[in-house]
Amino acid sequence: MKTLVLVEHDGRAVRDATLSAVTAASRLGEVDLLVAGRGIEGVAQAAAKIAGVSTVFAADAESLAHQLPEALAPLVVALMATHDAFLAPATSEGRNVAPRVAALLDVAQISDVLSVEGERRFTRPIYAGAAVALVESADPKIVVTVRGTAFAKASREGGAGRIEPVEAAAAPAAPLSSFVSQALSDSSRPELTSAKVVVTGGRALGSAERFREVLEPLADRLKAAVGASRAAVDAGYAPNDYQVGQTGKVVAPEVYLAIGVSGAIQHLAGMKDSKVIVAINTDEEAPIFQIADIGLVADLFEAVPELTRKL
Ligand code: FAD
Repeated sequence: MKTLVLVEHDGRAVRDATLSAVTAASRLGEVDLLVAGRGIEGVAQAAAKIAGVSTVFAADAESLAHQLPEALAPLVVALMATHDAFLAPATSEGRNVAPRVAALLDVAQISDVLSVEGERRFTRPIYAGAAVALVESADPKIVVTVRGTAFAKASREGGAGRIEPVEAAAAPAAPLSSFVSQALSDSSRPELTSAKVVVTGGRALGSAERFREVLEPLADRLKAAVGASRAAVDAGYAPNDYQVGQTGKVVAPEVYLAIGVSGAIQHLAGMKDSKVIVAINTDEEAPIFQIADIGLVADLFEAVPELTRKL
């Protein structure tokens, strides 16, 4: 089986999520990559070094500068004429492109796969991760998104892929979407989905100021990424891209600290595979304690500063 993996990048480096998708693709067969964007020569060269890669298709065009899914999808579909499966990381970018590719190919998309059980068989979470389904595709082409935390990362070194330039279709006169602007959080912290330690705050923090004042010193001390429950994000205490859970990011760090988070099933869907879960909550009946390895029944406004001082 010939597979095509979408390379996620920021114009400079290949993102870690791609490496897990490459591992998943290698279980299906030969692995080719697609690097799309503007000025992507360096990214294509880095992609060609990823272990096990055959060909890196490099599409360098103004119309792809912001990697809008509406521009990427037709390019992927053209390359699928010579590939059997398309894999994208199950990130916001991948989740944006894959359904469009599936629709254009008139096939079903299998999302968030946890394992490859055969050429056409995958497992994926259902009911917010409360159960795992084994699914089999009967479509002529396979389109899947890959949960990064479920697969080891392919090595960034050791590959000797061949770089092949490909033409992007000319941008339509009336495109479905256009790039306006982007506001990126400027953070020196590790990326949430690949951090070894994650400190997450919930609604109990009460305000954006207290969210920062209480959690950031602890995160600094632990060199951790900061996450948030959806309630904290909806209340404006933390930006959207901090959200962990079913409709946020899926993380599986070495240590996950859930602070003032109740442990709703939709939150657990995004963090329950963490190696060690630490919970601080005033309510000893809070569901988070059912999955916590270490639980502290305490007021976070006292416990977190004390913990930070003692570390
Ligand atoms: P709460 O449930 O209000 O919990 C706050 C906790 O803080 C309580 O347990 C309380 O005992 C504790 N507390 C209060 N004061 C203190 C104190 N001083 N010290 C210590 N502890 C204290 N949620 C997500 O997080 N991520 C998602 O991706 C997500 N997706 C969703 C998708 C759908 C379709 C739906 C319906 C819901 C989704 N939710 C998601 C929302 C989810 O159901 C919960 O509402 C949310 O996770 C609750 O956030 P929370 O734990 O911060 O708040």
